[in-house]
Amino acid sequence: MLRALRRRALAGLAPVYLVGGPLRDMLLGEPIKDLDFVVEGDAPALAQSVAQELRGETLTYPRFGTATVVLPDCRVDLVTARRETYPKPGALPEVMPGNILDDLARRDFAINALALPLAQRRPALLDPQEGMADLAQGIIRTLHPRSFTDDPTRILRALRYEQRLRFSLETETWSQMRAAIRDGCLDTVSGDRLRRELERILEERRPAQALGRAADLGVLAAIHPALKDGSALKKLASEGQVPVSGLTCLAALAYPLTPGQEAGVVRRLVMPGTWAKVVEDTVALKSLAGKLAEPGLTPSRVYRLLEGRAAEAVCAVSQLTSSPMAAQRLDDYLRRLPLATAALNGNALLALGVPAGPKVGELLLKLRDARLDGHANSAAAERDLVHRWLTSEGGLAQNG
Ligand code: ATP
Repeated sequence: MLRALRRRALAGLAPVYLVGGPLRDMLLGEPIKDLDFVVEGDAPALAQSVAQELRGETLTYPRFGTATVVLPDCRVDLVTARRETYPKPGALPEVMPGNILDDLARRDFAINALALPLAQRRPALLDPQEGMADLAQGIIRTLHPRSFTDDPTRILRALRYEQRLRFSLETETWSQMRAAIRDGCLDTVSGDRLRRELERILEERRPAQALGRAADLGVLAAIHPALKDGSALKKLASEGQVPVSGLTCLAALAYPLTPGQEAGVVRRLVMPGTWAKVVEDTVALKSLAGKLAEPGLTPSRVYRLLEGRAAEAVCAVSQLTSSPMAAQRLDDYLRRLPLATAALNGNALLALGVPAGPKVGELLLKLRDARLDGHANSAAAERDLVHRWLTSEGGLAQNG
């Protein structure tokens, strides 16, 4: 793909540039995830010609001047170089065709405003914002003072890069961010756009750290006032070595919510069903902690209390609850989850003489409880139990 674009660029057919993330990551010695290209001209047309040569497919979005070339082993985005202006803070920008410098000037941070011209035989990196110096110093810096007000989602992007690259926010950038948050810039951003950036954070290796920072800076409270308490996120982040999944972090975000607050947060971020379930289950499980700490609770009883709850919610509450007994039971539940199916199935029960009908389901549940409580740990032991139940329930014995 790169070679096909390079050939066209060298032949003077298309001024194409490799831009942004891949150059940043290459310079940092990090693995490159995707290649992004900018074309001074018609990106969809170029994408089509390359896809034809490589026998791939093209997805084109002529309205946005963008296209994706899909090959069996990769997807590559091509964008028409553009200039952007923001008519209103937080709104989507107005877009006009532009050149590569315009395109670099619309970017979020100097470390992403890099371009490599494929049309040059010995390409010299374009670095109009001095992003290379920032990469060397480990700094995240906006390109102009209104950057966060124009597009407040950049606040979440900055915190994501800060934690991923272990970089620092440049002093001015830090002040701009604080001012933008204080001035309520996040109020104007749609839930969809915020959620997409949060999603990107949850995909990172250290999501709790980035969200903990967002809580400290008041970003989460600005997104929804009920999210102002970041202590659960920070506790999760400080657990240190144990990697935490994205959805477990989402659960920690939801942990401080009181019943009734979660619906508002789910609505504000237009959360998909999986997220909403994690949030709701976390709040529900937090209020079950007292019950989960009661003495004498058997594993099967715990199972019934927790059955169907999102595993990430269980995992987060076990790490965050102040009750060691509840934490132990939640952990234990997660460990025993794979045991929660009996070795025997319905047909095996029929073969043992259980009459067809509701009794089968009832005994399968009893078998599951027995397994969870350690009273049966093999198919043979389960068969013995069924025989015992059948003989003790005289009415069924005739079938056994
Ligand atoms: P990643 O961030 O996961 O490493 P990436 O750097 O390629 O990937 P993307 O989110 O895929 O980042 O965006 C591609 C490029 O588009 C970025 O390098 C950045 O320059 C630019 N960009 C993305 N979102 C914004 C934004 N909100 N404002 C300005 N520029 C943006």
